[in-house]
Amino acid sequence: MATAKFETPALKRFPVIPLVAEGAMAHSKPFVAPAKIQEAVGFPGELTDGWEQRAIAKMGELLDKYRSLRVHMDACVHCGACSDKCHYYLGTGDPKNMPVARQDLMRSVYRRHFTFAGKHFPKLVGAVDMSKGVLDQWWSYYNQCSECRRCSVFCPYGIDTAEVTMAAREIMNSVGLGQKYANEIIGKVHRIGNNLGIPGPALEDTLLGLEEDTKAETGVDVRFPLDVKGAEVLLITPSADFFSEPHVDSLIGYAKVFHAAGISWTLSSKASEAGNFGLFIGNYEQLRKIALRIREAALELGVKRIVVGECGHAWRVAYSFWNTLVGIGAGGKDPFAIELQNQLDGRYKQPTHICELTYDLIQRGALKFDKEKNDGRIVTFHDSCNVARASRMGDMPGGQFVIPREIIKAVANRFHDMAPGTIHEATFCCGGGGGLLTDDLLELRVKGALPRMEALKNVVDTHGVNFMATICAICKAQFSKVLPYYGFDMSMVGGVHQLVSKAIRLGEPH
Ligand code: SF4
Ligand code: SF4
Repeated sequence: MATAKFETPALKRFPVIPLVAEGAMAHSKPFVAPAKIQEAVGFPGELTDGWEQRAIAKMGELLDKYRSLRVHMDACVHCGACSDKCHYYLGTGDPKNMPVARQDLMRSVYRRHFTFAGKHFPKLVGAVDMSKGVLDQWWSYYNQCSECRRCSVFCPYGIDTAEVTMAAREIMNSVGLGQKYANEIIGKVHRIGNNLGIPGPALEDTLLGLEEDTKAETGVDVRFPLDVKGAEVLLITPSADFFSEPHVDSLIGYAKVFHAAGISWTLSSKASEAGNFGLFIGNYEQLRKIALRIREAALELGVKRIVVGECGHAWRVAYSFWNTLVGIGAGGKDPFAIELQNQLDGRYKQPTHICELTYDLIQRGALKFDKEKNDGRIVTFHDSCNVARASRMGDMPGGQFVIPREIIKAVANRFHDMAPGTIHEATFCCGGGGGLLTDDLLELRVKGALPRMEALKNVVDTHGVNFMATICAICKAQFSKVLPYYGFDMSMVGGVHQLVSKAIRLGEPH
C-alpha cells in the first residue's frame, strides 16, 4: 500500500544521479484487484495452491511465444548503461528502479528454471526459485515501470524493459494477482465501451452540450456527430476527451478542424475509447478484444478512414498492432479484417493520427489561423513515450517529433523546446504511464515526474514558458495532478489541438 505522506523531490538546475537509497520504494504497491474484477476479465480471482508452478509454466509459454523476451533474458551483459536512465530511479534513488535491476527480478527466476547453469548451480548464477518473497518484489517493482522504453534507447543490445514488465504482469495476472486500476478499467471497456464507463446516452448529451458551447464561443455550428452511418471519418479518441479538462479542449479542436476542412466525421458509442489497457498488462487477448470494438464500429458505420485522437499508448496500439489485430491497415487475414480493408479508402494512411490529418491540411493550405490568439502562451512540447519511442507519424523519419511541433508553430508564435536529452527519443515519461495513473501510486507518480519537471523548469526560467502541450491523455491527467507538487499551475498542460482550437478560423470557404 502506498504511503500517504512523502516529500516531493527538490528541483535541480541540472539532472543529478541520486545516491542509492536501498528499499526506498519497496512499500509502493498498487491496490490488488478483488476476485470480482479479476474474474470479469477472465483471470483467476486470487492466488491459490500451486501458483508457483503455474507462474513458471506461464513464463515458459511467453518465452516460446515471444522470442524477444528470451533474448532480453539472455543478452544483458550488465554494462550499466541503462542504470541511470529511468525516471523512477532518478526520482526515488531506489536501485531496484534501475532498469537492469528490474529485469533481473525476472531474469533470476528465468535462470533457475530455463537455463542449464541455473538448474544445476543456482547460487553461482544468481538464480532463484519462484516464491512469495519474489512475487512481492515483482508486484512492487513491476508496478513501478511505466513501460516507457527510455532505457532501451540507451541499451547497446536494445533490451526492452517495458516488454519484461508486460510479461511479468501477464504472469501475475495468470495466477490471480492483478492490478485493480488497470483490470477494472478493462472490465468497463468490455461492459460499457470506454475507460470512464460513460454510457451512450450520457455521451450523446455531452456532445450536444459541446455543440452548444462551441456555438456560444464561435457563433458557428460546429458538429460533434455520434454514430453517423456513412461518415467519411471515424474518430477514435480517449474517453477523457469527452469530460475531463484539459482534454475536452482538444476534442473541440478536432471538431473545428473537421468543420473547417469540410470533412464528414463521426464518433462511435460502441468504440468510445482509444485507450487499450490490454497493452499495459501484456495480454494479447485483452488487447485484441478491446480493439475489436473499433473494427465492429467501423464496419457498422461504413466509414472510409479511421483517425486517432491525442492518446499516446492508443496511437502505439493503433500504429503497431491494429493491422494484424483487427485489420485496420494491411495484415489482418480473417474475413472481417479483409472486409474492412476493402471498405477503407486506400488513398489514406489507415489509421491516421489526428496530428497527421491536421498537419496535412495545414501543408495544403486548407486551414487558416489567427496565431496571435495564442500570444498569451509561451509553449513547449512534451513528447509522450509511446508516440516518441514506439510509433511514427507521416512519411519522414522522426515525423512523430516534427509534426506536432510544426502544428504548434503554425498556430502559436512563441515556442521553445526543452533541453536535448529530455525530448524526442530521449523524452522523459510523465511518470503516470503504463497503467500507473492511479492515486494508490501517487508517491511514485510525483517522484517519477522529477526529470520532466526539471526540464520544464529550465524553459520556464529561461524563456518564460507557461504552457506544455502534449498529445497523450495520460500525460495530461498525470501533469494536471503532479504539476502543483512542483510549484506549477495545473492548467499549464494541455493538448496540441487545444492550441489549434484557439487559433483556427471557422466559417470561411476553404
Ligand atoms: S521502461 Fe521506462 S519506466 Fe520501465 S525501467 Fe525502462 S525507463 Fe524505467
Ligand atoms: S544497458 Fe542493456 S546490457 Fe547494459 S545493463 Fe542495461 S539492459 Fe543490460
